[in-house]
Amino acid sequence: MAALDGLPPLREVIQRHGLDARKALGQNFLLDLNLTQKIARTAGPLDGVTVIEVGPGPGGLTRAILALGARKVIAIERDSRCLPALAEIAQHYPDRLEVIEGDALKVDFSSLATDGPVRIIANLPYNVGTQLLVNWLLPERWPPFWESLTLMFQKEVGERIVATENDDAYGRLGVLCGWRTDARMAFDVPPQAFTPPPKVTSSVVHLLPRATPIPCAVDKLEKVTLAAFGQRRKMLRQSLKSLGGETLLLKAGIEPSRRAETLSVEEFCRLANAL
Ligand code: SAM
Repeated sequence: MAALDGLPPLREVIQRHGLDARKALGQNFLLDLNLTQKIARTAGPLDGVTVIEVGPGPGGLTRAILALGARKVIAIERDSRCLPALAEIAQHYPDRLEVIEGDALKVDFSSLATDGPVRIIANLPYNVGTQLLVNWLLPERWPPFWESLTLMFQKEVGERIVATENDDAYGRLGVLCGWRTDARMAFDVPPQAFTPPPKVTSSVVHLLPRATPIPCAVDKLEKVTLAAFGQRRKMLRQSLKSLGGETLLLKAGIEPSRRAETLSVEEFCRLANAL
């Protein structure tokens, strides 16, 4: 059955271009265009928006983003085998798809941002997904060049991203995401939705940058969360010993017998500012 966008079904595209999935590249493809549209729709109306996509692969999500009206998609793909399939999509949507071949970890994303709003949408390769997210959250300059992030992760990583104090999954990633963004879990995607199916369930998370995060130096926040969650079962007076222990905690107005997982993002910022 032909797809609604008039392009051939993804299964045929994959077969024709010999795109057998490679584990080392985190290749688990989404072939259901209803599902890729659901992911793209999570990013909100796309008219007039430039979307940056990491790892388009054979282009299932790319096609959904374009069909939903994005002004332009800039897609970064490491696997050169995917380029001919992506070229077919570019031809179908003239001047709306730019493909950059390369490693997304080496790309200066902010330099890709042109005029107008930019959103990032991606079914991320599992081995580089968290690092990319952290890179998008860390820059001193805030608000960032992107308007939102709509990203697929392994569910366990998604839970760490949206976790708040006293959640089992709360840790350094939750503090960083909660500090700079409003992060929410959008929906889960079961393994059988992918080709080949991964071992675990995935989740789509949606992050919006906070207009005014609590003023706090990133490097200091990193220092306190690293020490605090490095020994998460210990009292903070112990886990933060090398950073000043009880003196630091009292300066920040935090009871030294508390544990890392009970501290809110605001309290972590207070600790960073007291350093
Ligand atoms: N977007 C497609 C989909 O949803 O079906 C493919 C998603 S697949 C999980 C991840 C994609 O990222 C693969 O196409 C893989 O080749 C690509 N990839 C892996 N590592 C990458 C990297 N460092 N930079 C850019 N792309 C990468």
